[in-house]
Amino acid sequence: MRYLAVFDFDFTVIEDDSDRYIVKSLSESLYAKMKDHQKKMQFTELCDMMVGELHKLGNNPDDLKKTLRTIPFNPAMYDIMKLLQENNAEIIVISDANTIYIDEISDQYQIKQFISHVITNPAHFDDDGRLHIRKRCEKHDCLNGCAVNICKGVELLEYINSKGSPYDRLIYVGDGTNDFCPSTKLGPNDYVFPRKDFPFSRKIKDEQYRNEITARINEWESADELLSLLRNLL
Ligand SMILES: [Mg+2]
Ligand SMILES: [Zn+2]
Repeated sequence: MRYLAVFDFDFTVIEDDSDRYIVKSLSESLYAKMKDHQKKMQFTELCDMMVGELHKLGNNPDDLKKTLRTIPFNPAMYDIMKLLQENNAEIIVISDANTIYIDEISDQYQIKQFISHVITNPAHFDDDGRLHIRKRCEKHDCLNGCAVNICKGVELLEYINSKGSPYDRLIYVGDGTNDFCPSTKLGPNDYVFPRKDFPFSRKIKDEQYRNEITARINEWESADELLSLLRNLL
């Protein structure tokens, strides 16, 4: 069996939301501002503005990187990725976070070795040490309600097509509403793992949405539980 295992990042691979965690950890008052602006601004633009403010407050790249490395992580996620790799699965991440956060955190928890490809928003530090976060794309044609800057469904299909030969089984793990779209691209032989009591699992409580997913659906609460589900499956 040749598997492709696709992971969302925030609240899936890690136990928090990296975009919010970094602001919350470095400035409580800025985090209040972030929450206040959340409904009024496109999220990537808001995150970019927030890291701009963190820079103005004197935070250098090292401060940001050190903070990212303290984000909560369940070691069972390391075991999950190791298990998948041992079973000939290719592991990729498709996330609305950004390249810098995912790189730093994956390095901290030694899971970088398992991840073959990361699809996310591009980010970089400029010469002044200010982080810039850009949108993965400016627009797309998705009708599943994906955020303007990334459609994970389109990204997943493009990735699979770029590989040429098909996978025998797809595994998709996620918690957010933007994990719904890619899950509709999977077939009856594939597996979708929505995190229990998170927005994605709540969305598919609605029959109308649930029926759009033909893959087998298994909910998980903790990485430990996901690990045992995958042990039974592989
Ligand atoms: Mg997530
Ligand atoms: Zn989409």
